[in-house]
Amino acid sequence: MKRKSFLKTMSLLPFFGLTMDLKKLHQLIDNTEATKRMPTLFLGHGSPMNAIEENEFVRSFRALGKELIKPTAILCISAHWETKGTFVTAMEHPPTIHDFGGFPKALFDVQYPAPGSPTLASEIKDTVKTTTVGLDDKWGLDHGAWSVIKHLYPLADIPVLQLSIDYTKPPEYHYSLASELKSLRDKGVLIIGSGNLVHNLGLVDWRRLNESFAFDWAEEASEKIKSFIINDDHNNLIRFGSQGKAFNLAIPTPEHFMPLLYVLSLKDKNDKISFFNDKPVAGSLTMTSVKLMPEQS
Ligand code: ZN
Repeated sequence: MKRKSFLKTMSLLPFFGLTMDLKKLHQLIDNTEATKRMPTLFLGHGSPMNAIEENEFVRSFRALGKELIKPTAILCISAHWETKGTFVTAMEHPPTIHDFGGFPKALFDVQYPAPGSPTLASEIKDTVKTTTVGLDDKWGLDHGAWSVIKHLYPLADIPVLQLSIDYTKPPEYHYSLASELKSLRDKGVLIIGSGNLVHNLGLVDWRRLNESFAFDWAEEASEKIKSFIINDDHNNLIRFGSQGKAFNLAIPTPEHFMPLLYVLSLKDKNDKISFFNDKPVAGSLTMTSVKLMPEQS
């Protein structure tokens, strides 16, 4: 809890008298936190190995988890759940999905047993008016979600839901759909887009897999994307397919970029934008992550 909200809570204590027990105090604190507007995040997830490796990227995720107000739930738009139609996971206990191949057993052994929230899933379905959001009972948490969320919240004690990306729809659809989810930010829900701003696996330099360097086009696209984000130029990001060669190489397929459009659409005009993990990897990937913080947090 932030110091300011703790002090605010403590200042209310005299009104409850000395008999107030700890349970009531916790309830009061929880309510104080849930009514604050939540930040929104785009997290560059990179290799699934980030789930179990120790490096600067996961250290940033861990620090971020400690810095943020504890959410009541997390809604993740992951690059790795593409569907025809839009769905939200609605099961009580989403399974940990190991949606990759060729990695060590230790990665397949990872479980992230966060609960789901059928109630919130129904609320999301009701909140979105322009399209029908299906309630899904077959997916769970893919590595786009758990490989990063496990570092933010290692106790897996916060309900996590995923919203799928409808691959049949254009970028405008996703940007517009996300704007309908904005009210969730005031209900304690942390919305996370998980992808990579520059993501071209076909051009990865496999001999320099653990090196931080970018090809010229990756550097150019990364700088332009960040500049559009800083200047709230969302139109040019929605039109990522018309930005020339560097963008075409950086975003050869849309799924890792699309979660950014969800996050930006949720932006309030007073949110403070900052970047972290802003580094390239293996020439054709960037781990750049974006944090949108409400002014008061
Ligand atoms: Zn990925």
